[in-house]
Amino acid sequence: MNRTATDHKFDFETLVNSIEQYDKIYRDDITRENYFGFPIAPILEAEQKLLDNKVKSVAYLSMEYGLAPSIYNSFQLKKPMSEKNKFFKHEVFSNYWISDYIFKIKIDKMLDIPIYSGGLGVLAGDTVKSIADLGLSVMSVGILWNKGYFKQNFWYKHGQMPEELSWDPWSYPGLIPLKHRVSINTKKGKLSLRLWKYYVYSYDKKNVCPLILLDSNVEENTEYFRKLTDQLYRSDHVSWRIFQRSILGIGAIKAIDSLGCSIDRYHLNEGHAAFAFIERYLQLSNKADMQDEKKKFMYTCHTPVAAGHDRFNLKDIGEIYGDEYIQAAEKFGKEKKDSQDMNLTYLCLDNCAKVNAVAQKHGEITRLQFPDFASKVDAITNGIHIHTWLSESFAQLFDRYSSTFGDWRRSPALLTKAQDLMGNEDFRRDIFEAHQVNKRNFVNVVDHWKLDPNVLTIGWARRITGYKRPSLLFHKIEEILKIANKVVPLQIFLAGKAHPNDNIGGAHIDAILEHIDALNNYYDIVKVLILENYDTYFGKLLSNSVDVWLNNPLPPFEASGTSGMKAILNGVVQCSTLDGWVVEAEQDDIGWIFGYRHEGSEIGSENDLRLDEDSAALYETIEAMAKMYYQTNQKGKINLQSPWISKMINCVRRAAFFNTQRMVEEYNAKMWELNK
Ligand SMILES: *Cc1c(COP(=O)(O)O)cnc(C)c1O
Repeated sequence: MNRTATDHKFDFETLVNSIEQYDKIYRDDITRENYFGFPIAPILEAEQKLLDNKVKSVAYLSMEYGLAPSIYNSFQLKKPMSEKNKFFKHEVFSNYWISDYIFKIKIDKMLDIPIYSGGLGVLAGDTVKSIADLGLSVMSVGILWNKGYFKQNFWYKHGQMPEELSWDPWSYPGLIPLKHRVSINTKKGKLSLRLWKYYVYSYDKKNVCPLILLDSNVEENTEYFRKLTDQLYRSDHVSWRIFQRSILGIGAIKAIDSLGCSIDRYHLNEGHAAFAFIERYLQLSNKADMQDEKKKFMYTCHTPVAAGHDRFNLKDIGEIYGDEYIQAAEKFGKEKKDSQDMNLTYLCLDNCAKVNAVAQKHGEITRLQFPDFASKVDAITNGIHIHTWLSESFAQLFDRYSSTFGDWRRSPALLTKAQDLMGNEDFRRDIFEAHQVNKRNFVNVVDHWKLDPNVLTIGWARRITGYKRPSLLFHKIEEILKIANKVVPLQIFLAGKAHPNDNIGGAHIDAILEHIDALNNYYDIVKVLILENYDTYFGKLLSNSVDVWLNNPLPPFEASGTSGMKAILNGVVQCSTLDGWVVEAEQDDIGWIFGYRHEGSEIGSENDLRLDEDSAALYETIEAMAKMYYQTNQKGKINLQSPWISKMINCVRRAAFFNTQRMVEEYNAKMWELNK
């Protein structure tokens, strides 16, 4: 391991000299004072700390990062943004097809750096932002996906048609290519990786968390190698999956070493990064040192769903890597003696010093799934980064009541003080109005669909996959019509992508489009819109503007879920099954909890979706919700005593806990033990 001495200095020249084509492309945007419009000093300081072996540092490895720069800390460019890095294609499929046919949603926005697919990536992005907010010394590592995840098109009768996404990393604000290369020896030849850097700033711009992105799209690689980092989670052949995971794990270790970073902890965000452990082992000249090396590895397990746990046949690994890798995979990653697979989850559970699940309930389930490691599994509940997900109107609300909320930007835990305002009529009016501001904003974005800000609006948006039950709401469509006819009109917004190879997820999208079409004659009472290309921009817009956030996974398969946390931060009440993070808020009256409850020590099957019982429970809940909503908001006349508003206040109060600042502090206290 080639560790650089502490007196190695990282200054402006070091940065500039490391950048490929600095003079040609980046000179105007990176100066002695500024980095794409942000102060440059925190970058030099963070890099210096990573080189210093007297400062304890962590490497955080994740396959994906949802950094959402279109909604938070957007870097500036001196020249106009390249058209390739803009994104406006959000069509709508609704039961008001005339508008779908004529109009698109028009937003002039930057494409969020497309290196994420969903919640796991958004969590990683929020984590590094809170790391920066707390000023911890962490180097994060991921992959530069040259074609992103994919672009989604809805085609009636065909469902989701995935399309390749193209963007331009060379002109993406804040992203810089290093001259530096690292290489991995494979049986198919030498695989060379370019390193990119991106700096994630704290909310006060005083600290950064550097992010290295690995990229195989370099001239010296073969055509096949160049495509390996094209599409996130490409899974049509097992060798893609092995390559993508090993590029992350092996590439990260090589990058850290060759940049001279002094790292004391390796945090593997999901089993994807497990090859990092193998690589460390292979580097050791004295294999007995591995006992000490193991103490440096930490692992976060994110899912109880079988597809989330990678297993690779040793023969398939042997097609790519030499015998030493196979022997190490056998030594550390075999679930059972006679197995021929390396199981990345098992490898991490067995070898990492610290392991955490992502919510308390998920901790219980993980212990049931892996009884051999039960005593090792801790649970640290996920969160969201409040500065990314808080709407402007709610930030203003908290500032208006600053004598109660204090410096909530620095200490999100202060949001718990919302409790003190429960009986304050002014606050009750102001929180409802702050919400209406967000709702009207969204209604304006989709103005051609003639939505009404005083009609009860339900939102569902997340990755489309079986256990999340995306079409539960439409299971008996006549029941929705019954509610709408009897009580009230309804507005429903949906969004989400299914993995292109997930046939069940794809079938759900087909079904949703069919259901929406079947409601064509009922637009006056039920308006249903599904938006194409769900991303972090729309994640924020939707989660803070609807009245009710619907979350209906089949318990106990939602490890945590985070979109509901974005909603409660903005006073949006929950309609949820009892799973993931919601279990920890069951007693807090943040909305409505319905449906199947998981109990006991059998995990059950993710294929037994319980649609009949749970849709019936959902319709009953919607009817109760609707009654309360229209007693609260009578065509714009607001009843300030309504328990609905109390629920909204409870939501904000609980957002004090469900954030990544609290989560990262727990990571640090229980796993990293860095000095602040
Ligand atoms: C927050 C977010 C998610 C995660 O949603 P879950 O509730 O965890 O399913 C997924 N995708 C995007 C774009 C998000 O912003």
